[in-house]
Amino acid sequence: MCEQVEDPKATKGVVKREIVRIVTPGTVMEAKSLGEAANNFIVGVAERDGRYGVAACDLTTGELYVTSFAASAEAVKNILNVYRPAEAVGDESAIGFVERESASGVMKSVLCTVRMQDDEPLLQAQFPDESWQAHEPIRRIAVARIIGYLSDTQKRSLAHVRSIKAYEPQQYMALDAFTRRNLELTETVRDRSRKGTLLWLLDRTRTAMGSRLLKRWIDQPLLDRGAVERRLDAVEALHSDWIRREELRSELQEVYDLERLVGRISYGTANARDLNALKASLQRVPAIRSLCRELGTGTLEQLRNSLDPCDDIASAIESAIADEPPVTVREGGLIRAGFDAKLDELREAGQNGKRWIAELERKEREATGIKSLKIGFNKVFGYYLEVTRSNLTALPEGRYERKQTLANAERFVTPELKEKEALILEAEDRMIDLEYETFIRLRDEIAAQIPRLQKLAEGLASLDSLQSFAEASAERRFIRPSWTDGEGYELQIDEGRHPVVEAVTDNGAFIANETSLRSDSSILLITGPNMAGKSTYMRQVAIISIMAQIGCFVPAKRAVLPFIDRIFTRIGAADDLVGGQSTFMVEMKDIQVMTEQATSRSLVIIDELGRGTSTDEGMAIAQAVIEYVHDHVGCKALVSTHFHELAHLESSLPRLRNGCMAVKESGDGVTFLRKLVPGPRTRATEFIAPSWPGCRIRS
Ligand code: ADP
Repeated sequence: MCEQVEDPKATKGVVKREIVRIVTPGTVMEAKSLGEAANNFIVGVAERDGRYGVAACDLTTGELYVTSFAASAEAVKNILNVYRPAEAVGDESAIGFVERESASGVMKSVLCTVRMQDDEPLLQAQFPDESWQAHEPIRRIAVARIIGYLSDTQKRSLAHVRSIKAYEPQQYMALDAFTRRNLELTETVRDRSRKGTLLWLLDRTRTAMGSRLLKRWIDQPLLDRGAVERRLDAVEALHSDWIRREELRSELQEVYDLERLVGRISYGTANARDLNALKASLQRVPAIRSLCRELGTGTLEQLRNSLDPCDDIASAIESAIADEPPVTVREGGLIRAGFDAKLDELREAGQNGKRWIAELERKEREATGIKSLKIGFNKVFGYYLEVTRSNLTALPEGRYERKQTLANAERFVTPELKEKEALILEAEDRMIDLEYETFIRLRDEIAAQIPRLQKLAEGLASLDSLQSFAEASAERRFIRPSWTDGEGYELQIDEGRHPVVEAVTDNGAFIANETSLRSDSSILLITGPNMAGKSTYMRQVAIISIMAQIGCFVPAKRAVLPFIDRIFTRIGAADDLVGGQSTFMVEMKDIQVMTEQATSRSLVIIDELGRGTSTDEGMAIAQAVIEYVHDHVGCKALVSTHFHELAHLESSLPRLRNGCMAVKESGDGVTFLRKLVPGPRTRATEFIAPSWPGCRIRS
């Protein structure tokens, strides 16, 4: 973007122009080009001595996160899937990882820029409050890469990017890219839409910032019981008080996207309407605070304390900005009457001049007897008197000076009119300048308060996400989960449901199922024909664990859960729908990663393993994997297979149980009961009656 950087009135010749900003995919500020419910991240990456650092910044909101881990293609892929960046900058080797991932077509493509300059000196200026010694060097470099790039491209202060949120990957449940997609947490497998995902189901937020935060929460389930319990306490309070929840929802409805408003204020692109939106939002805070108090749990009380109503800012806007200002800030009409004496004086002068002109029109009509005589204005000639051609004869010679001839009329001026015109225009010019200056001063004053506004925005976003959980939980009859004591292993879900499949299934038709995974029965091997409900059942267990660990209620009658550190889902090649990405080889590699990385606290879901090869080989692979998981990993596992022969494993593996999805067969059809029953499928064949449309027979 180029702009004139000198005042054209004050310069002779060509006005100097400069590049004032470079807009790139990761630095778009214009909300219209971005979905408001999603962040737009740019990441900075760096790699040294086997460590990989990632910093992710959303310039529209000012958020900046940083983390680091042992460098591996797998780990980079997983983190990219959390942020889904539009753009990446960084060291050559580090950016290589991103480029390869971007080229693989799994994500939307990422614009990659290599950047090797020493950007660290910029950090102290950008983050004066940060204690740099505390950050691992690789993280510092990752942040520096972003800040260097932003200052080169944006060419302005980034007053809203002032705090760095550092975290360890181990703080969150590890979900690889494939598992995220397969569980349809934030986008569907088939068409990558939001509809039909867990996010879609749980998002009852009322603000854009809440919606973005909710998505991040779903992307990053917690491992800290205290933190999860705090969210659950708040959700419970909101869940049980329908009236206050409704009130809170309607207050939040009136809150604008503070994070992005703040971004625009810092950027110098906020207009007077933005300030009014800020004011309107701030005015909601007192009511929201008192609702938090009335709801009265520790978490909400804490949140309440972080909600600074910023009265001073609201009243500064209220007293200065007009109620309905225009979109532009360079044409006046921004500042309220009575705010500035000088401005009122100029406005008065302008109005007096206009009154004088109206009076002149009246007098001249009377004096000349021409009723249609009128005074008009245009930008080229200024004010003029206009007389239609047919009336010209009635006009005394020499009364006015001729200025312009039109087809049907003549336009005239008088020295007096020109004099008044100069006064009016000057007053208007000065008024516009003064209004603009006053507006900019106010905006800069507010910009100095950005940290307060950001803290408020963060508090409101959390509150909005919590009420969204409560709302969805009430609507969908979810219940509060409880936790297996201490480091306990057991997972017990009574009447669990798959929340999304349930939501799209006709009313009440969803069949609930129990899940019990204990130290003496940690693997469940499920058999059953296609369409029996095996995948749905296995995914529901994973989704219930995730919902619990983001602090939401869960779809079950009762759930006692352990903290799961990682979820792996592995799906047989033939079942893979993601653009034919997965081949048998990829599947085997995935399985290898799983066997290496799963711990006893992980949950593994294997759906139809060993499909892409011959029966014997497939079965051998499936058996080997199951045995390995059983003997060496010790994690919880749900395995579905069409190899009913594997049922015999129950006798050799003490912690494995067989289960099957019940099917009722009669002479002319099959009814899927969708009920998990203990034991293997009794029939030796997977038989579906030939009359069943679209089904095949496997023996
Ligand atoms: P499988 O993995 O055994 O082939 P799926 O899990 O894909 O079967 O289920 C097939 C379809 O059956 C799902 O799309 C869903 O509509 C329906 N379904 C699955 N489980 C249930 C259930 N518990 N209650 C009602 N409908 C279900």
